[in-house]
Amino acid sequence: MTSITKNAVVTMHYTLFNETGEQLESSKNSDPLAYLHGHGNIIPGLEKALEGKSAGDSLRVDVEPEEGYGARDEALIQEVPRSMFQGFDQQIEVGMRFQADSSHGPTLVTVTAVSEEMITVDGNNELAGEKLTFDIEILEVREASAEELDHGHVHGPGGHHH
Ligand code: ZN
Repeated sequence: MTSITKNAVVTMHYTLFNETGEQLESSKNSDPLAYLHGHGNIIPGLEKALEGKSAGDSLRVDVEPEEGYGARDEALIQEVPRSMFQGFDQQIEVGMRFQADSSHGPTLVTVTAVSEEMITVDGNNELAGEKLTFDIEILEVREASAEELDHGHVHGPGGHHH
């Protein structure tokens, strides 16, 4: 397999920038990322741009929020009484993250404001609503194993270990 099509295992380095050019994340500080192409393992805008590319290719990809982590949803911002955090023995501060229950199952929320009585939490992905740019360097493209296809993700370096 030389170019990226459905069921390819792609190993790549990526660096992620926000709209102002600030670097948010990079795999270059650690191992490259491996993902299974065509299975929604990465955001749609990036997966689309990688289709047909080959090992050795470098590319810059701009991703709009609707092809990335979605628009910010104001309904995911909630004020909850401080009493909900009873049993939590640390002081609650802006920027803390908690696991919360939602109608879609457990979700990660970030504390965005704190008052004497109420805590404001935001359940949006921190990259929701952001226009993103990825610098991609494709290192390897190979065919997925039957087991990887069965699980819907990559095994081994850069993927799942279980
Ligand atoms: Zn697996």
